[in-house]
Formats: sequence, structure tokens, C-alpha cells
Amino acid sequence: MSDISKNQWTETVDVCVVGAGHAGCEAALACARLNFDTVIFTVSIDSIALMPCNPNVGGSSKGHLVREVDALGGEMGKNIDKTFIQSKMLNMSKGPAVHSLRAQADKSEYSRSMRRVLENTDHLTVKQAEIVKLLTENGKVTGVVTNTGTTYFCKAVILCTGTYLKARCLCGESITYTGPSGLQAANSLSASLIENGVKLRRFKTGTPARMDKRSIDFSKMTEQFGDERIVPFSFSTDPDSIQKEQVSCWLTYTNEETHKIIRANLDRSPIYAGVIEGTGPRYCPSIEDKVVKFSDKDRHQVFIEPEGLYTNEMYIGGMSSSLPEDVQLKMYRTVPGLENCKIVRNAYAIEYDCLEPNQLLPSLESKIIKGLFCAGQFNGSSGYEEAAAQGIMAGINAAQFLRGEEPLILDRSEAYIGVLIDDLVTKDNREPYRMMTSRAEYRLLLRQDNADLRLREKGHKIGLVSDEEMKITLYKAEEISKEINRLKGVIVGANRRVCEFLNEHGSNELHTGVSLAELLCRPELDYEMLAPLDPNRPVLSKDVIEQVVINIKYEGYIERQLQQVHKFKKTEKKLIPADIDYDDVKSLRIEARQKLKEFRPLNVGQASRLSGVTPADVSVLLIYLSQKKD
Ligand SMILES: Cc1cc2nc3c(=O)[nH]c(=O)nc-3n(C[C@H](O)[C@H](O)[C@H](O)COP(=O)(O)OP(=O)(O)OC[C@H]3O[C@@H](n4cnc5c(N)ncnc54)[C@H](O)[C@@H]3O)c2cc1C
Repeated sequence: MSDISKNQWTETVDVCVVGAGHAGCEAALACARLNFDTVIFTVSIDSIALMPCNPNVGGSSKGHLVREVDALGGEMGKNIDKTFIQSKMLNMSKGPAVHSLRAQADKSEYSRSMRRVLENTDHLTVKQAEIVKLLTENGKVTGVVTNTGTTYFCKAVILCTGTYLKARCLCGESITYTGPSGLQAANSLSASLIENGVKLRRFKTGTPARMDKRSIDFSKMTEQFGDERIVPFSFSTDPDSIQKEQVSCWLTYTNEETHKIIRANLDRSPIYAGVIEGTGPRYCPSIEDKVVKFSDKDRHQVFIEPEGLYTNEMYIGGMSSSLPEDVQLKMYRTVPGLENCKIVRNAYAIEYDCLEPNQLLPSLESKIIKGLFCAGQFNGSSGYEEAAAQGIMAGINAAQFLRGEEPLILDRSEAYIGVLIDDLVTKDNREPYRMMTSRAEYRLLLRQDNADLRLREKGHKIGLVSDEEMKITLYKAEEISKEINRLKGVIVGANRRVCEFLNEHGSNELHTGVSLAELLCRPELDYEMLAPLDPNRPVLSKDVIEQVVINIKYEGYIERQLQQVHKFKKTEKKLIPADIDYDDVKSLRIEARQKLKEFRPLNVGQASRLSGVTPADVSVLLIYLSQKKD
């Protein structure tokens, strides 16, 4: 590193956010909007909110995260509503718990639009500089130093460095020491973090090639359309304002020919040749991994997605790889429609330094350095949405830290964000963590459609949600409960007209009067259908009707899940004293004692989720805590 010590220039601010990716943008906006003087750093201002991989936001469980970020007062939902080019609600054939919105983004518009928001936010400064050093004193953060030697003194630092720390990109035998898309890597900060006692590890992820649209034969593929009626991500977006023409995506498949070429060249794959050190995401496998691990499958889906309106670049979803360029060309050209494809950007894998997140508290603050918060891919997660969710929480909690107030912690029963962060800081994740609906045990309560009802109040209390937005949500909640009570109170008689109506809709006749709500519980009937039997119904918005229908049709399941949450909250409330001496808890098993000493969980609920801590160990701990109390 060159001698930058001559530059004695210093600045003093409240918060320094290192990284302007999906995590950094949310973190910096949260701090600045809460009136803290904030600087956001990036190695390239032209890469703000860059999407180095898939050109879409949302999808299964990720759509839930975007809605929750929006409900708390974040930016991602609004930004994609302004820059999407196709939108689709996924899993509509399944229950509401897994309905999930996904929108194809115009990548460069998405980045430009987020940059406009950052550059026009009060109390926020955007700075192109690489942070090479973290400054601390007596276990507390005091500032950062840039690659030009300028020192920024501050009281809180939020690290959102993504896939840039000591990054290297691998495409067959070719290795380049850059960040994603050829951007500069950040090679100095890791050493400074290690000096400060932070433990790092190596993870990897990969991306497919991009191709010239003119070289693709779409007649050999199945066109995938967006929804006719577009639903916005943000609760603040007027649905009527975003109805527009959409672009298509395309579906094709690999085949045996593709798989043969891959198998024949595994020795030239950095993954299989052992060149790659970092651990990759199981749930986002490369095409090499798919062919090797699912050898019984004779084809894999390939989604061709536009990268934007102003480019011919097409993203080849489902075929990320780090095979050499010549092999890539051969393999892609076996796919129907890609026979004459021209690669604009090669597929590659990227390795980078990231954090062992069990060094963090559920507030995302470091356990060893006060005022240091971490978010995004740097915490070992994978995905724009996971990053944005951690970013807003780290921003909120850095502000709470500066206010001297309690952090905002969302637990597993309140939000997917709660599941995400709890899994990251509690579980032993050995690979990049990607959110999935199956990870959320209370998913029937944590639907994407009710994120505002669950989280707006918390965002309002913190100061990120305006009074106006809060009023709209309170009014919506009131409308919902009024309509549910009304439907439960309106009794429909078992008369001939009603029975004929039910017959016409393939529903059983009535023998006695029932409420409209009971009728609505019948799977073959829905709210619109019942209108002829309900002449005095009020005019309600689609959102309110959606909530009313779900709460009535799934009432029993929701009730059961609420009881489970009640039990869960009991153990979450059982706090463990910070200074507990686990050597004093005699009957604990050795493995559990080691895990509890290493990890120091905040409450019994968290202790029970540690791998290596059994229910028997939890009982021992509970007895010890109750004896200590007496
Ligand atoms: C090749 C590739 C393939 C991927 N594949 C997938 C996938 O298949 N599925 C998936 O879910 N996700 C994938 N991702 C991950 C996805 O891109 C990230 O999850 C997401 O971008 C993370 O957001 P972030 O804000 O944490 O970090 P990033 O978006 O990486 O942003 C990091 C920011 O930090 C800045 N920065 C870093 N270090 C410094 C420093 N020292 N000083 C100043 N600025 C710094 C950078 O300039 C950048 O602005 C992939 C990413 C890459 C690169």
C-alpha cells in the first residue's frame, strides 16, 4: 500500500457506511433519514445498487423481505416499482403464505434511480473511496481511513462490503483480482478487521454468462409473460400508477449434450479442480454442480431474462458457471435457441472475504467492537433482498445506538427479517445463506401481503415511516377488522334463493342460517361471488378484501400458529444474564457448555436454537436460572 500518511485531512460525521450495494443503500438512507450525518462509501459511484447477478428483485420468500423492508420505511420496494420491466406474483396456485412477488428490473435504471435517491437525501454524502482501515479505541469504533489517507471520525460504522473484500474472479484457468463485473476489489480492509479481532472466512458465488439478444432464437423457447394486473412491491405505490407494457422472459432447457460437455471438462472447472477455496451457496448451484449432483436429471431449466430496456444483454438464468470461456461457448450452444449465441460477458465465480456472523448480536452490532454494525453479503448471506433487509436493520440500530436507545430486534414470529438475522447470528451457517419460506416456522402469519400490518408501527416509532403512511395502515387495519366482524354478523337464511345460488356455485345447500363468514370459508366460494347474498356490503379496496378473505378462510390455522407463537415468545422472554458462568451449570453436557460459552445467547429461546444444545440442556439451563432467581 502506498504511503498515504502525508494526507492528514480529517472529517467528522455520525455514521460511516462502507458499501453502496443493496445493504449499504438501505443502511445509509435509514441513518440519514433519522437525521444523522452520514457518509456512504463505494469503490465506484457508477455501481450504486449494482445487480451483479440476476436481473430481478423478489421471488419466493425474497418478495416477503422486500415488503418488510418497505413496511419499515426502506427504499428497495419503491425503487423496483419505479424501474421494473416485468412483474409476476409467484406460487398463486398455492396458499397465501408462499405467494411471492418477483419483478424483473432494468438494472441500470435501478442503479441510477437509487443513486438519485441517495444524492438527494439530506444528511447523506456519497463518496467514491476505498476504506482501507477501521479505527477503534478501547473496544469502540472511532472512524475509518480511505485509500487516499483521509480519516473520517465517527461514532458508528456499518460494514456492507458485499463480494469485494479480497475478491478474485475465476473463469476457468483465468483468475482476475477484481470485484464483480470487473470493478476494483477492496484488498486492504480485511487485514485491518483481523487486527481488530474480527474473524473472517472465504465464501464464493457465481453468475451465468450474458448474451447478445440478436444471437438468440426465441422461437425455440417458451415465452414467459408478466401478470396482467401488476401488484406493487411498495405499500406506498399507487397500483394504478404502475400498470404498463411489460417485456417477456423465456424458458428453455439444457440437455444430455450440454451435460456431456460439462462432465468432460470438470477438470478445467476451478470448483472441481480445487482452485476455488470459498464455499458456495447450495441453493444457487452452478450448472456444473447441478449436472454432478443431480445426474439423474436429463435436463435443467434455463430462464432467459432481459437485463434492461436499453441493452441487448440477456441473462442466462440457471446456468451460472466458472468453466473456461471455450467450454462455456460449447455448453451454451447446445441449449435450444442458443445455438448461435454470442457471449457479451462470460460466466464466472467470485470469491471474497466475509464475516463469521456469530460475532454479531441480533442488532447486527459486533459483540467485540461497540458501534460497529455489519450487513449484507458480508454477513454470509446471499441475495439483494437479504442484503437490503439487514441493511435497514443495521441502519436503524446504528441510529438507536447513537440515540442511546434499545435496538430494534424483530423475532422469528414477527418477520422474515427476524428469521434471517436470527439464523445468521445463531446458526452455524457453513455456506452463503439464502432465505426460503421453509425457514420461517410461522410463515402463515408472516405473509408478504400483511407486512405493513405487522411492521409499519415499528417503522413509525423509529421515525422512518411518516404519520401519513401510518394513518393509512391504521385505517386499513380498522377496515379489515370491521369487515370481518360484519361478515361474521350477517346471517344468511336457508331459503330457496340462497340454496339455488349455492347450487349454481357447486356448493352444498343450507339447512339452517349461517353467517357470510362461514360461507366464505367454503373453498368453492369467494368474496366476489357472495355479493348477491350481501347487498349491504361496503366498498372496500382490494388490499382490505384480500386480508379479510385470508383471515376468515385460514382462521383456524392462524389461530393455531398464534398459540405456537405464544409459546415461542415465552422462551424468548427468558433472558440469560450477560455474566452467566456456564462452568457453574453443573449438569450441562460438555458440547453444550462449549457452545453456550462461545456464543453467549441473550435468551433461552436463542440458546435452544444453537446447534449442539439439546432440549435436555435447555431444561438444565432453565432450572439453573430459576434457582439463581430464588
Ligand atoms: C458474481 C456474483 C454472483 C452472484 N450470484 C448470486 C446468486 O446467484 N444469488 C443471489 O442471491 N445472490 C447472488 N449474488 C449476490 C448478490 O449480488 C449480493 O447478494 C448482493 O449484491 C449483496 O449486496 P450487498 O449490499 O451486501 O453487497 P454488494 O452489492 O456486493 O455491494 C458492496 C458495496 O461495497 C462497496 N465496498 C466494498 N468494500 C469496500 C471498501 N473497502 N471501501 C469502500 N467501498 C467498499 C462496493 O463498492 C459496493 O458498493 C451474486 C453476486 C456476484 C458478485
